[in-house]
Amino acid sequence: MIPFNKPYLSGKESEYIQLAVDSGMISGNGNYTKKCQKFFEDNYNIKKALLTTSCTDALEMCALLLNIKEGDEVIMPSYTFVSTANAFVLRGAKIVFADSKLDHPNIDETKIEALITPKTKAIVVVHYAGCACEMDAIMQIANKHDVFVIEDAAQAIDSFYKGKALGSIGHLATFSFHETKNIISGEGGLLAINDEQFIERSEIIWEKGTNRSSFFRGEVDKYGWVDVGSSFLPSEIIAAFLWAQLENSKDIQAKRIKLWSQYEQEFKAIGNTLEVDLPQIPKDSSNNAHIFYIICKTNDERTQLINFLKSKGIYAVFHYLSLHKSEYYNGKHDGRTLTMTEEFSNRLLRLPLFYELKSEDVTYIVKQISEFYEH
Ligand SMILES: *Cc1c(COP(=O)(O)O)cnc(C)c1O
Repeated sequence: MIPFNKPYLSGKESEYIQLAVDSGMISGNGNYTKKCQKFFEDNYNIKKALLTTSCTDALEMCALLLNIKEGDEVIMPSYTFVSTANAFVLRGAKIVFADSKLDHPNIDETKIEALITPKTKAIVVVHYAGCACEMDAIMQIANKHDVFVIEDAAQAIDSFYKGKALGSIGHLATFSFHETKNIISGEGGLLAINDEQFIERSEIIWEKGTNRSSFFRGEVDKYGWVDVGSSFLPSEIIAAFLWAQLENSKDIQAKRIKLWSQYEQEFKAIGNTLEVDLPQIPKDSSNNAHIFYIICKTNDERTQLINFLKSKGIYAVFHYLSLHKSEYYNGKHDGRTLTMTEEFSNRLLRLPLFYELKSEDVTYIVKQISEFYEH
């Protein structure tokens, strides 16, 4: 069987965890945490990076940092993971969902401005499959209306928009190291702070509402409760695991991109007989090969294809169910139809893509899909 995903281990994870344990300091914000944070600051031009226990937690920190309260509105795509919305709903925000683009699941930047009201506090963009949203247009709308931009860059490590790293453009950004992502730590995440006004408070919220971080830097002579906060930082054991991955990120990325490109080339070689659409990389975006997907013609066809592939030993999976139609939110949604969101929910199919996937596997998968469409 070819699984949909298989977490990749670089080989150093256990060694670094052992070193963390031997150091006698296994709670958070130790050496490995600092190494991981510096990696993001140095490589992706992020002003301040803080490791978190998940991307979900990093998104919840964003909602706290923006003082989101009952009645505030937050604009985001409906084609995303539940945490993108939940983090703001937890603070009482109303979510205003925007549709996806015609040729990409990313938020349609031309639909955003009409959704802005005096209650709008933030726009959350999601770089689906690691592909950049139209950040110039989005930042311009945000600046014009004085609202904040948060990049949900959960899938977007090592991807770029006009040469700028995703996660370095919005006021705040969040990454995920869940085992399904390119770089993993089991569960894990990171908050990127690009707007300096949030740096001091982000450390306080991270450390349970205390100024413990400035105490450790010797900036204050005792630490105490100064603001709201929670326990958002992971232990050194998780950071040690993550460091073993980050050290190998070039290799991991190169391998994924190679497999992604092979899929694309082999599908293109089949040409017109194939009745699916291939992923479009937006013109100003790089490709971090997080997901390789195809777009089937109908939902029924996708279901048949999933079953056919399963019978051939291949696990292919669909992705998000539109949040505006979810059991939890559908009664709260304002009723607008989000055509493209629903198209991607119904027709997008993700194919296996992971470090240890073999080149022969890609060839086999493309061949089976081609056979499905021939019959
Ligand atoms: C994976 C993912 C998340 C959640 O990440 P966790 O680290 O599991 O909390 C949030 N948003 C998007 C777009 C994701 O893909």
